[in-house]
Amino acid sequence: MPVPAAVCGRLAPSPTGYAHLGNAWAFLLAWLAARSCSGRVILRLEDIDPQRSRQEYARALLEDLLWLGLDWDEGPDVGGPAGPYTQSAREHVYMQALERLEAAGRVYPCFCTRRELRLLAGAPHPDDRGAPYPGTCRSLDTARRTALAASGRKATLRLLCPEQQLSFMDLALGPQCFLLAESGGDFALRRSDGVWAYQLAVAVDDALMGVTQVVRGRDILSSTPRQLALMQLLQHTAPQYGHVPLLLDEYGERLAKRHQSLALRALRAQGVEARRITGLLARLAGLAADARPVSPVELIERFSWERLTRADQIIYREDLRSLFSQAMTS
Ligand code: GLU
Repeated sequence: MPVPAAVCGRLAPSPTGYAHLGNAWAFLLAWLAARSCSGRVILRLEDIDPQRSRQEYARALLEDLLWLGLDWDEGPDVGGPAGPYTQSAREHVYMQALERLEAAGRVYPCFCTRRELRLLAGAPHPDDRGAPYPGTCRSLDTARRTALAASGRKATLRLLCPEQQLSFMDLALGPQCFLLAESGGDFALRRSDGVWAYQLAVAVDDALMGVTQVVRGRDILSSTPRQLALMQLLQHTAPQYGHVPLLLDEYGERLAKRHQSLALRALRAQGVEARRITGLLARLAGLAADARPVSPVELIERFSWERLTRADQIIYREDLRSLFSQAMTS
């Protein structure tokens, strides 16, 4: 696959909790993918959801990622030409994108409540990352829209998505092809409470920040066709995507912020050295034969997409114990 002349990767943490081993895994791989082709790295704080994001987590995230040995050329702490690098400060950018989509006749208000969507779609999670929207409000006439708005119902703004096939070459998974209608249907651009949807914010930010390489967990793969559709409509050049395997706990659950014992700061507080964590992650990723301590910089020349494991990886209790026992003896 041709590599763009100047690679620019990104780390896009959401400050909704402390960074944990699963974040460290995804960010290490994204960082290595960019640095292994002498690329730049942007750090962007994805704090568009005011209910879930906290300043305290934002500060801690930067601190923990630096502690792990990752760095970035542009970000909220160091600035850069494409800032601001915090989504909550970029509302005007999302508004401009929305206006362009509206001018192209591609936006409509949807008055469905979450409950109605659940009943209509029979879907367990009708949110902007989940089941396709069945198109209920697509063809409401103006009188009906006005009446619903007058009744006090707040509207979600949705993108009108025609039947469209979207294909791309994933750096990790190879050729990918999706039908837009099946990956979200007419997905949300702005929630009824005014919060910008993840899909819009990410697509616009990646494009405007000059990101050429998006490396993230494959749990986000189904969002990529939506982001590509937005980039096409807004006439932006799409980045390359690489969706990496996930890090799972012993029960096969994706590591998430609720695994607080696996938070980087919890591990650090117990004396675990950052290089030991990177060593363990490098072994799991297939970049090292054993879990010998290593820094991210030392791994740059060992990274390649061919080498990277294709399978999700489980962190076993022994793996964690090995981090701790070494912490105690060193
Ligand atoms: N901020 C998102 C998350 O933490 C990442 C989104 C992305 O990489 O596109 O889940």
